[in-house]
Amino acid sequence: MIRTIRQSLRSIRYHSARRERTRWTRAMDAALVASFLLCVPAAFLSATLVRRDALQVVFGQIVPRLDGTMNAMLLDEASPSVSWGQAGSIEFELRLGQEDLGFPFVIREDLLPVAVWVAPYPGAPRLQAADPATQAVELDAIAHAVDRAGDPALAESFHAKGRRSRVVWTGLVASIPAWWILLLLIAAIGIQLARLATAVATRYSTGRRWSRIRRGVCPSCGYDTRGSLFSERCPECGELLE
Ligand SMILES: [Zn+2]
Repeated sequence: MIRTIRQSLRSIRYHSARRERTRWTRAMDAALVASFLLCVPAAFLSATLVRRDALQVVFGQIVPRLDGTMNAMLLDEASPSVSWGQAGSIEFELRLGQEDLGFPFVIREDLLPVAVWVAPYPGAPRLQAADPATQAVELDAIAHAVDRAGDPALAESFHAKGRRSRVVWTGLVASIPAWWILLLLIAAIGIQLARLATAVATRYSTGRRWSRIRRGVCPSCGYDTRGSLFSERCPECGELLE
């Protein structure tokens, strides 16, 4: 039994000859290790460099009440009984910005604070309600409308002070092997190109050497050695003459 195993092991060792190791196979092995070590940093780096912007706009209007207060509504909560564009109403837009970061898959999502744009009257330039002192009444009304709308994501974005980041774990997990393959592919193409260039250069220099020997000039520097038939070396560069 043991002898059978030993014999089959020996036959496997005999038949699976190690591939010939050249500097190109060593370069490919090094590329495999290097791309493995670099795929995680590359994925994280892509999350700071590659971004796609997404903008969502929510429309609404503010209707002044008789007692001087303001009633704001978002467009999608408006019922058929609410008439739009009625006298004295002010339209507004909420702009929700989102940045998707990472390559090839989204690794991080950044939610930007909501920008509030209020148009005081038709045809007027749009104002960004960044200054709470001037637009306080409208902003309060809009804040109430947002809270009433029952959209937790919108409400959270509206009340958020700064940018909020969220890691997309599925994207991160998918991006790391994708980067490994990508880096390995780039390295393999580079190695193959270098190999091709070396082969072409070798063929060119060998060809030139042979043509120089045929023409009777020094194979190394091209100096005419036909006059110095009995010298062993090229008088110009010292190359051994054949
Ligand atoms: Zn020479």
